[in-house]
Amino acid sequence: MFRVQVPDQDAPDMERAHDFNFDLAVLGGGSGGLACAKEAAKHGAKVVVFDFVQPTPLKTTWGLGGTCLNVGCIPKKLMHTASIYGELAEDAQLYGWNLTKNSHDWDRMVGNIQNHIKAQNWKIRVDLRDKNVTYYNEYATFVDKHTVKSVNKRGAERTVTADKFVLAMGGRPNYPDVPGAQDYAITSDDIFSLKYHPGKTLCVGASYISLECAGFLNGLGIDTTVMVRSILLRGFDKDCSEKIGGYMEQCGVKFLRPCVPNKIECVKEATDSSAPELRVSFTQNGEEKSDIFNTVLFAIGRKPLTDKINPGAIGLKYDPNGKIPVTEEELTNVDNVYAIGDLLNAPELTPLAIQSGRLLAKRLYAGSKILTDYVNVPTTVFTPLEYGSVGLSEDAAIAKYGEENVEVYHTKHTPTEQVVREASALEGYNYAKLICNRADNERVVGLHYLGPNAGEITGGFGLGLIMGATKSDFDRLVGIHPTSSEVFTTMNITRRSGQSIDVEDC
Ligand code: FAD
Ligand code: NDP
Repeated sequence: MFRVQVPDQDAPDMERAHDFNFDLAVLGGGSGGLACAKEAAKHGAKVVVFDFVQPTPLKTTWGLGGTCLNVGCIPKKLMHTASIYGELAEDAQLYGWNLTKNSHDWDRMVGNIQNHIKAQNWKIRVDLRDKNVTYYNEYATFVDKHTVKSVNKRGAERTVTADKFVLAMGGRPNYPDVPGAQDYAITSDDIFSLKYHPGKTLCVGASYISLECAGFLNGLGIDTTVMVRSILLRGFDKDCSEKIGGYMEQCGVKFLRPCVPNKIECVKEATDSSAPELRVSFTQNGEEKSDIFNTVLFAIGRKPLTDKINPGAIGLKYDPNGKIPVTEEELTNVDNVYAIGDLLNAPELTPLAIQSGRLLAKRLYAGSKILTDYVNVPTTVFTPLEYGSVGLSEDAAIAKYGEENVEVYHTKHTPTEQVVREASALEGYNYAKLICNRADNERVVGLHYLGPNAGEITGGFGLGLIMGATKSDFDRLVGIHPTSSEVFTTMNITRRSGQSIDVEDC
């Protein structure tokens, strides 16, 4: 071992007690990996990031930036926005705009979204270069605990050594063990850049991805069905999940439940510009049935491909589902290898991946002691009726504190911007709920909101929960009028009281 000074104009010089090529090698250039790499470089570490995307069975591939930018949050939110704009165009006419109703142009939407993503891919490359982070568009696997071998798309190999490693490989969508699934179905990895209009679509799965995709596809005027194996949005508040299903049904989404697919057969092949025709056989309530769809999208969970990095070479321990157990410092069982983001047994969310990456780098290279807080993480499901939540569901609160200690305040609300709408079956779904622990001064342990701008509202109130806000703190807060967020400052009906929430105060 000898000490080397790495020349680096911007970052402070860091004394090194090793002779590896890099201080830190990051496997995965997604939300977590990039945040970690840039933060480490800022504190003087010599960093390399490997990022490589294995194509989907449909041969879809994408650039630097990981799931969120390329095949996750960003294109999803943009397609959700496209669908909401259709709804708002209807409202706009009620506000006096003379809009001739246009049909939706799939190719134009996909083209504009993909242009945005490609521009961001390029910006990320430039940003890494500016921040002195070396980037290799190569797939990395371990040789030993300080060495990886990487391969680019032409098969050229490179060997790199590093003092420490951060695993940030994220995950990829699961395919079920159903004949025809890999041959004919797609996943969220394909939908956002699909070259042809999806046509009549079946979304299999009943969590975030399936419901969000079904929501925006239906909103774009596409005949959409969701196949639900058991319940909607497992782990979320049941009241809210069922309201989302009810609302989507009112919007025209069809639900098959309880139902699982058995086989997918091709009736007519896809072309470059048209979707295939697929026969899907399924079992619904014990009955065998089939239907024809143009697109079948599996959204049945995601799996980290930890087994693909040659984990045996370093004795890395991981679970059968690919998740990697870590300490609270995100250290794996190998003493110089850390793991962050979707690889962990934690919510699979971009801000959490970024937080875990950034704080880890600060601990490794800037003397910080701050750990990532994996509790009270706000999240939003971008279904047509948006759903934001932070903290516990009602069931989880009852399981944790006992029914006698759980006070649920809830209310319906009508967003002011929607009052011009004529009475419709979509009314009455906007809902809010505060779950409090009576044994602890009515501390708020769960906040749930159904309605427009759920992400914006929930993100702000999340701070209250982290700081331990009680119901009386919410009562002290003066709301902003007229907004939807003000419902949280005026809630006075408890579920225990049995009082109806159907009558709204002005
Ligand atoms: P990733 O972003 O997945 O990055 C991992 C990268 O590593 C990938 O580029 C991968 O190709 C690469 N890689 C893997 N193995 C190797 C290797 N051996 N060598 C080199 N490179 C490798 N979260 C939210 O917070 N809000 C949302 O609205 C939201 N919407 C989503 C919508 C969809 C459809 C999906 C799929 C996910 C969504 N998520 C959302 C989740 C979010 O995208 C992930 O939690 C986040 O991207 C995880 O970041 P990561 O850094 O752990 O991994
Ligand atoms: P999830 O793991 O959350 O849910 C999987 C769904 O698929 C469940 O409804 C499950 O049903 C069902 N399922 C599983 N296996 C089968 C099968 N063989 N046949 C039929 N149905 C099946 O996965 P997602 O893919 O929806 O999302 C992955 C993660 O990505 C999320 O947990 C989330 O953290 C992140 N994400 C975040 C978003 C956001 O922040 N807005 C948006 C999208 C994704 P069952 O309940 O019966 O097990």
